[in-house]
Amino acid sequence: MKPVVFCDFDGTITAEETFVAMLKQFAPEAAEETIPKLYTHEISLRSGVRRMLESIPSKAYEEIMEFSRTKEMRPGLLELMDFLDSEKVPFVVVSGGIRIMVETVLGELVNRVAGIYAVDVATDGPNLRVHSEFEEGTELVAKVRVMELYEGDPKIAIGDSVTDLNMAIAAPVVFARDRLSGYLDKQEKPYIPWGDFLDIRDRLREIWKV
Ligand SMILES: [Mg+2]
Repeated sequence: MKPVVFCDFDGTITAEETFVAMLKQFAPEAAEETIPKLYTHEISLRSGVRRMLESIPSKAYEEIMEFSRTKEMRPGLLELMDFLDSEKVPFVVVSGGIRIMVETVLGELVNRVAGIYAVDVATDGPNLRVHSEFEEGTELVAKVRVMELYEGDPKIAIGDSVTDLNMAIAAPVVFARDRLSGYLDKQEKPYIPWGDFLDIRDRLREIWKV
């Protein structure tokens, strides 16, 4: 069986956090009230992110796309995808953010990924309305549920933060950077540190001996 790669978007594919920055710009009041409560766990990601997104007027949708267009990707994603294609290994993007931001930043690379799982928003009312197929427990997008859709073995997770922790614990092979590394250290779960996607390609090449 072929491996399958699951990759976070925000702060992983993008060089910087883009989703929180977008919320602060387009939902300033809701963000100011809600974000501190997310950090103290007074409110779940599931209800907090929904509340912030649903306070954004639908007419801001175009501007959110424009906002996303200027965001940079971490180096090496194209090279990693070329390598995974040559090995026939699927690359799946799993994001707790909104689909339009993921697709805008990925651009042409959208056609190269096996799937994008993220929050969908409807713009037919006065404010955005949130729809997530994988809403569960405290999460708006339960990344582990997405992993379960794929049969590949081993499952490989790539991430940067606490929202990737469950996915990282469930995956036998993990590439972790930033805060995710700290969380995994605490859980004593082994991981491979990475800086950019070229590191991941090179390391997989070594592991797979290709
Ligand atoms: Mg992230």
